[in-house]
Amino acid sequence: MATIQKQVRMVFDLNKCLGCHTCTMACKTMWTDRNEGQMYMYWNNVETHPGEGYPRKWETLGGGFDANGNVILSAPLPEIVASYGAAWEYNFDAVLKAGGGSATAGQVIPIPSPDGSNAYASNWQEDIGAGTSPSDAHYFYLPRICNHCSNPACVAACPRGAVYKREEDGIVLIDQSRCRGYRYCLKGCPYKKIYWNPEEKKSQKCIFCYPRIEQGQGNFCVTQCAGRIRWVGYAQNTASNVYKLVEVWRVGLRLHPEFGTEPNTFYIPPLSPPTFASPGGPVTNTRRIPTDTLAKLFGDNAQQTHAERVARIEEIFDIIETERAKVKAGSSSELIDILVSVSETDRVQL
Ligand code: SF4
Ligand code: SF4
Ligand code: SF4
Repeated sequence: MATIQKQVRMVFDLNKCLGCHTCTMACKTMWTDRNEGQMYMYWNNVETHPGEGYPRKWETLGGGFDANGNVILSAPLPEIVASYGAAWEYNFDAVLKAGGGSATAGQVIPIPSPDGSNAYASNWQEDIGAGTSPSDAHYFYLPRICNHCSNPACVAACPRGAVYKREEDGIVLIDQSRCRGYRYCLKGCPYKKIYWNPEEKKSQKCIFCYPRIEQGQGNFCVTQCAGRIRWVGYAQNTASNVYKLVEVWRVGLRLHPEFGTEPNTFYIPPLSPPTFASPGGPVTNTRRIPTDTLAKLFGDNAQQTHAERVARIEEIFDIIETERAKVKAGSSSELIDILVSVSETDRVQL
């Protein structure tokens, strides 16, 4: 693979994500709402965690690299209806045009009816989470894009050389003129962030808004993020907030680093309030989102043990809580200033 001169990175603060899906719709509107075969594609999606995600159970579908560094291609391909859900049509014509349009909104229904055991959609399990209300119920939102990995399994998997990583910024793209639709890239990507276009018979994915990056502008999912939870910049720019969050304050972790692809997206893990000892009873010292759960998701690198991941997450929580306390006491904090993120120029530094 070519030497990467600069590498784009994105940081997400999961403490701030509203689950509003503005990012998803910004991406959808811009890139995937025109062409046939792209309806089910969400290059940016936001999952409720714990939950099965999109595509369904993507964390268990396989891909990535084995212990010898060989890309794993034994993974089953996600199937559009079973893994993503059937695209719905609505009976607007029957409801709004028949009988002079006097029908009520209650009669507008999706077709096919989304109540079968195989029914699914991108936000099927939104806000369900885990635990028992009110004692320890919990969930958080997990926005996902292609991670534009430094060791991309999709690139390693493609026998056509159609998937490539750009030297100038590390963005991973699929050359549509070279793609023959074999879908080895989809098997190889352990994040299942490549989508098969059944109409065009080609694989497609997040392009990191490269036409905007080339102009020094932020990705749509960054600039439109209502919660201001995202930062974008180059890994090599030591003055950028992306660099400060990941390398200086060290509060960003990779999603499933054990897959071995070295993602260039980083997540600040979510703090959570304490549980109740019993319904209506006293609060405990236990966080609602178990650190063990978070450590199964997030870590620094593929080599880290689970215990080391747990320790890192506790370390990050300590850093954030210490800095929050400083600000509360009237002092300033570079970290909290970055996390508050007043203006777009704080979040887009390209
Ligand atoms: S997330 Fe998947 S598709 Fe994106 S670069 Fe990594 S391996 Fe490739
Ligand atoms: S970077 Fe651009 S293409 Fe990728 S998910 Fe965000 S808006 Fe979509
Ligand atoms: S727009 Fe921002 S806050 Fe809203 S769901 Fe997306 S990442 Fe979360």
